[in-house]
Amino acid sequence: MAEEKNRGLTRREFIRIVGAGGAGLVVGGVAGSRLFPQKAKAGVPSKWDQEAEVVVIGSGFAGLAAAIEARDAGADVVILEKMPHPGGNSAINGGQYAAWTSRIRKKLNLPEDSPEIMLQDMMEAGANLNWKELAQKVAEESADGIEWLIDMGVQFMDTVIQAGGHSRPRTHQTVNMSGGDIVKAQLNAVKDRGIPLLTEHKVVQIFRESPNEGRVLGVEVDHKGEKIFLKAKKGIVLAAGGFSRNVDLRMKYVPFLTSEIPSTNHPGATGEVMLLAMEIGASTTQLDWIQLYPFADPKTGVLDKVAVVPFTAPAYCIYVDKNGKRFVNELANRKVCADAQIFGLGEKPSWTVFDNSSIEKFTSRKIVDKGVADGRVLKAETLEELAQKAGFDPAGIKETVERYNRMVEKGVDEDFGKPSMKAKIQEPPFYAIPQWPSVHHTMGGLQITKEAQVLDLQGKVIPGLYAAGEITGGVHGAVRLGSVAIPDCIVFGRTAGRNVVEAESL
Ligand SMILES: Cc1cc2nc3c(=O)[nH]c(=O)nc-3n(C[C@H](O)[C@H](O)[C@H](O)COP(=O)(O)OP(=O)(O)OC[C@H]3O[C@@H](n4cnc5c(N)ncnc54)[C@H](O)[C@@H]3O)c2cc1C
Repeated sequence: MAEEKNRGLTRREFIRIVGAGGAGLVVGGVAGSRLFPQKAKAGVPSKWDQEAEVVVIGSGFAGLAAAIEARDAGADVVILEKMPHPGGNSAINGGQYAAWTSRIRKKLNLPEDSPEIMLQDMMEAGANLNWKELAQKVAEESADGIEWLIDMGVQFMDTVIQAGGHSRPRTHQTVNMSGGDIVKAQLNAVKDRGIPLLTEHKVVQIFRESPNEGRVLGVEVDHKGEKIFLKAKKGIVLAAGGFSRNVDLRMKYVPFLTSEIPSTNHPGATGEVMLLAMEIGASTTQLDWIQLYPFADPKTGVLDKVAVVPFTAPAYCIYVDKNGKRFVNELANRKVCADAQIFGLGEKPSWTVFDNSSIEKFTSRKIVDKGVADGRVLKAETLEELAQKAGFDPAGIKETVERYNRMVEKGVDEDFGKPSMKAKIQEPPFYAIPQWPSVHHTMGGLQITKEAQVLDLQGKVIPGLYAAGEITGGVHGAVRLGSVAIPDCIVFGRTAGRNVVEAESL
């Protein structure tokens, strides 16, 4: 950052005051808007108030990864976060990371996996609409990404599960089953490096030499009503997440996603940074692919720890409707499951049913027991009693489970073709979790290259502008596979951070 003589703040003082996590301290209370020059003309401020070599917008997985890498490559970095707390969706995430190999997976006796098989799964779920070279990079570098996180102090469980849409067990789970485990380690790394992370700093404009030409110059920030013009000497990394909480925007692309349909996302997932990038010529892709998480709490739409269970349990559970009947291959991807609920069943909820025998294989007993205590998970000694408690048909579930158990014995799901059925449902107590789709992930976003450079409408790179994470589009095509968003954010966040420092300084 530049010397801040006009505010009596030196660079060193600035960093000391705002240091990582220094919520909202910078500039606020020091500089009123009267100290700030107005824009000389549309798009370019006459004077900058602050400067950094690299400006990162967003403090989720992608932004933090970019900031760490940019700093490690020697750059002067600042992270801007509009919310009072860092982390965005990443902090409330389920902590599931798909990687075709890892030091954890190598210790387990699991079917062989490879970047090619992982890519194939991603493309199949994505209806082959994925930008293949982006998806390929995520698949290949997912392994490096998880090692980077482990080295940073993130702890994963020593099991690896097969989650919906994946043909291999490759989903790693953080020990507290939360993305907060990862964000915490990243924030520590940010703090150790002295990178300023400025919360309550909302980016409201991105400046470029001219609206559709030249390199990016910096941003306008709103800090509690004060304007700050921040110059980005080398470049800007856009890592501001998706737009699941912006009802108007999501309805523009998918009209049935009205305000009646809740979202699993944090309130800040509103997509304005993507729109700001579009104002300076950035192009987007596949904005009409928006994912619903099929297993959210039907009452609130929230993806809590209990709602993760149906996603990690498919090989050990069944999903049933009000008649106690299965309605889908539980190992299908999220779009297949959500479509089967919304368009097939038409009324909420549906339920995940499992027994006592394998709980530790797909979740923790603590989560299930707490769910029972909170009334989120239903528990009963018989299937009939479970059905009565939940409100689905007792005779139907009995018949369904008997048939399912026979198919487990044969090893073939004759009804829905589920490729892996690991256990019968027969050991009491039995459990049921109600579930219903909630808006979860915006697959579309800014068009980027493999090097995380943002492209313009002519397919040309916008100099100095990089993007990573859910703000980008194309990696996942029509459907993001569960547990592939974290590797996407980490892989492209790191790439953006390494590449942005290569630019010549303004
Ligand atoms: C409940 C939940 C559980 C999930 N579980 C998993 C999982 O287990 N595995 C998996 O792979 N994926 C999961 N996902 C998806 C994954 O968490 C997200 O795709 C990922 O966190 C996105 O990271 P990001 O860094 O791109 O954005 P975010 O983590 O959302 O961070 C973006 C940040 O940018 C900030 N921001 C936005 N606009 C501005 C602005 N104008 N100025 C400044 N800052 C701004 C936001 O406030 C936010 O803090 C889950 C998602 C949710 C919602």
